[in-house]
Formats: sequence, C-alpha cells, structure tokens
Amino acid sequence: KPRLMSGMQPSADSLHLGNYIGALLSWKELQETHEAFYMLADLHAITVPQEPAALRENTRRTVAQYIAAGIEPSKSTLFVQSHVPAHAELAWVLNTITGFGEAGRMTQFKDKSAKQGSDSTSVGLFTYPILQAGDILLYNAVEVPVGEDQRQHIELTRDLATRFNSRFGDTFVVPEPYILKATAKIYDLQNPASKMSKSAESTAGIIWMLDEPSVTQKKIMRAVTDAEGGVVYDPATKAGVSNLLTIYSVLSGQSIASIEAEFAGRGYGDFKKALAEVVIGTLAPMRERALELLADPAELDRILNAAADRANEVAQATLDTVYDRIGLLRRV
Ligand code: ATP
Ligand code: MG
Repeated sequence: KPRLMSGMQPSADSLHLGNYIGALLSWKELQETHEAFYMLADLHAITVPQEPAALRENTRRTVAQYIAAGIEPSKSTLFVQSHVPAHAELAWVLNTITGFGEAGRMTQFKDKSAKQGSDSTSVGLFTYPILQAGDILLYNAVEVPVGEDQRQHIELTRDLATRFNSRFGDTFVVPEPYILKATAKIYDLQNPASKMSKSAESTAGIIWMLDEPSVTQKKIMRAVTDAEGGVVYDPATKAGVSNLLTIYSVLSGQSIASIEAEFAGRGYGDFKKALAEVVIGTLAPMRERALELLADPAELDRILNAAADRANEVAQATLDTVYDRIGLLRRV
C-alpha cells in the first residue's frame, strides 16, 4: 500500500467543518487504500501561544474527533507529533537547507503574522512549514491529503526533498499533494472572503464539530448571503451562498445543480433551514461519539501509545539515514 501522511493542529477545543470536509472526509476513504499516518500536530500548535492545560486537553479532544469522523486506529497510525522526537530533529536539518527568502514567501506565515504583529510573532511560526516538510518526509509519504490552503507548504516540501536528494543522494520520496478540488476550501460563514479557521478572531462564522446542534442551527441561519436573492452558485459575486451550496453538496451527496433546481424561486431562509438539517445530520452523531470517547481518556492514551511505537519505528529509520548522509558522526 502507498504511504500517506497528514495532520491537524490541536489548536482549538474542536475541529471545524472546513477540517472535516477539507481533510477528514478524504482521510477516512484513503485509510482503506493506503498505509496512513495521521498526526496530532502539537509541535505546530505551539507556534502560536497555547495555554498548557488546554493544549493537553485539546490534543485528546482532537484524537477523539478523528476517531468519531471514522479514522480507525486499527487501520491508521494515529499519533501525537511530540511522541516522535525525529520530527523536531529533522526540522533542524531541513532548516539548514531552506533559504530565508524561500521561507519568507509562505502566505500562511504572512497572514498569521500580520494578524499578530511582528513583536508577538515567533520564529517558530516562520519555520512552521519546514517542520511540516519534515513530518511528511520522515514517513516517505507518496501522497499528502490537505486542503487548498496547504498547497504552498507541500510545494516547499517537494523543493526541500529534491534539494536534499541532489546534495546528499536519494533519501526522500518527493510527495504529491492530494487535494479534492471542489471541496478544498470552506469559507467562514460570517466572512466568506476568509477560510474557516480554528484561529479566526471571531467564531460566529465557524461551524465547530463539537457545537451543540442548536448552536449550529443558529450560525447557519445567520450566515452572510447577499441582497440579490436566489440560491445560485457563483463564487465571484455570491461568495456566501456559494460556500453554503458547497457544504450542502458535499454533505448530502447531491450535485450543486440539483440543489439549485430544488430551491429555485425559494428564499434563503428555506435553503438555510434545509442546510442546517444536513449539517446537523452529519455532525450530531460524530459529536456524540467524540464525547463518548472522551469519557474514557485511558483508552485514548492506549491508542496513542501503540501508534507512537509504530510511528517512531518508521521515522527514526529515516532520520538515521539523514544523519548518516549529511556526515554527522554516529555514536557506536
Ligand atoms: P489554524 O487556524 O490553527 O491554522 P486550521 O483551521 O487552519 O487551524 P489546521 O490544523 O491548520 O486547521 O489544518 C488541518 C487540515 O484542515 C489541513 O489539511 C487543512 O488544509 C485543512 N483545512 C483547514 N481549514 C480548512 C478550510 N477552511 N477548508 C478546507 N480545508 C481546511
Ligand atoms: Mg491552518
């Protein structure tokens, strides 16, 4: 089976609908055909300030949501990044072959640091994509399923892998991004110009997987649309409605055209009510399953321990080869 690696940051107490549609849905399918490594990216999460007790708790909460969304520990290696020291170690090596200007071109860094101001932006946020490149390369992953927002980081990973291979000899597999075009980006319901994001300032437009159904309902009914009316897909002029149509289509399996036809001549209120039903129908059972899993943290820890053993086995072997190739004297 081809190898595959992906991850999410435990940077909030819940994942959101963008994470589910942009990543988890494909993770679930891909675990059937691939040897999948799915990571809780806690080392990435600390590139912005995290409250220690919350980070620990959010890491367990994120695992529970992976499993509730259908990621099966018996099929996939579901592990915590900091349980595998090779991630931090390979990141250091990759730092030394990344250009300063090259790293400075990453748009996620520009966006996130602009929000924080340069004094509160950490160097870790700057080198974030290099740590991410290491995550992928350690497992010799052939494919990396991510949302559209991560495309540039996967390109950097490919560049670094190619550069390392040409300087030090064939070591890394050069990975391909696996991005589902139509559903790759879900936007904030209050601000359809921005992607739905765990770290957004306002959560009014974010559908959290662990929100209570009544809260989800309210957020959908209040979603920004436009004055023109008409349930029509046109991202350029009707960003809000188009985003809602995308969500409806992915979660119901209905085509956009057939949804447009169903709601032709009807108001946004009707459409939103139907959408809320579809979204809650998907999220409510996952929410309940996640809360059940969280009631037994010892079982979650057992799953993570077994996965950490497996991940360490693979990652450490890659790191050993890297250290050897670059000429570090190995202890005997
Ligand atoms: P943060 O704001 O802390 O960066 P995030 O919401 O961007 O959080 P990540 O943990 O960075 O979430 O990303 C996890 C996965 O979810 C990645 O594969 C990313 O591409 C995907 N993803 C994140 N936001 C969206 C979105 N709005 N639409 C589709 N996919 C998304
Ligand atoms: Mg992100």
